[in-house]
Amino acid sequence: MAKRFSTDTYVNGILSGDRVMLSRAITLVESKLATDQELAQQVINAVLPHAGNSVRIGITGVPGVGKSTFIESFGSYLIIEQGKKLAVLAIDPTSQRSGGSILGDKTRMEELSMNPQAYIRPSPAGKSLGGVAKSTRETIILCEAAGFDTIIVETVGVGQSETAVHAMVDFFLLLMLAGAGDELQGIKRGIMEMADAIAITKADGSNTGKATAAKAEYQSALHLYPLGTSGWLPQVSTCSALKNTGLDTIWQTIADYLKLTQDNGFFEKKRRDQNLQWMYEAIRQGLEDNFYSHQQVKEQLQSIADEVKDGQKSAFAAAAELLRLV
Ligand code: GDP
Repeated sequence: MAKRFSTDTYVNGILSGDRVMLSRAITLVESKLATDQELAQQVINAVLPHAGNSVRIGITGVPGVGKSTFIESFGSYLIIEQGKKLAVLAIDPTSQRSGGSILGDKTRMEELSMNPQAYIRPSPAGKSLGGVAKSTRETIILCEAAGFDTIIVETVGVGQSETAVHAMVDFFLLLMLAGAGDELQGIKRGIMEMADAIAITKADGSNTGKATAAKAEYQSALHLYPLGTSGWLPQVSTCSALKNTGLDTIWQTIADYLKLTQDNGFFEKKRRDQNLQWMYEAIRQGLEDNFYSHQQVKEQLQSIADEVKDGQKSAFAAAAELLRLV
């Protein structure tokens, strides 16, 4: 159980930029205990008026594409060249290790994690995607209230986690490798459609030519998609996290996007829509938790499920029977 303080202690600590208090509040947010959750909600509500003043950037890509190396370099660039205060969060529901995801490994983002302008928080361990997404979403609010003006949410490019990240960020960056064959093979169309920008990683040494070719290919592929309501045409660029090249172009792309969407109102609209989406998601999650923690449901679920499995009861009749218990 996390050590608990009064709501005011958390709130004052967070608002004064106290990282220890920020971390402790995030631990509350990640806790499964109802009392911790209640306290977490009070803290979030209290700091909410001080949140929102940041750029939220989602970064995804398959394992090995270079996400952590990129975030290390790009993060340092944002802090040193752009004067940003950066929080890096991760959504990695595949991680079951205690202490969080691979992001928690010491070898990852070593330099960035030592920078006083950066705050790195690994993905909470042992939670479902829905649980991780909720914690991360709330952690964004806490980090913003603590004065972080740039939030990066990293996710491994597998499964549904990209959709969850997309629903909590302003800008979605897809990292891709220049492949040997057909550049568009193996990329889920849905992910491409979510991307506001694609960066071809590892554009250095003998890989440079391939990366440049891939960039042209992706750019023309993206032109085939209809322009979204943001009015933004997704951009493709190349970068090397090892050589620190292309990082300024990526930041410029994000800045251009922010200018366009803040001017045309899309930025605000998207955030409002996301808030609503999270409300409905929280309702759905709450109902579900409520249902499964109900005493009678707990007692009867297994036997009714067995009846469905054995073909003695229809799935719908079984569901209706269980729902009636609550
Ligand atoms: P992740 O799994 O997406 O987080 O990828 P990593 O950041 O761990 O990188 C995977 C591998 O690619 C590592 O061996 C890195 O050293 C290498 N790598 C990452 N960025 C670059 C780059 O810009 N250039 C080159 N040549 N290699 C890179």
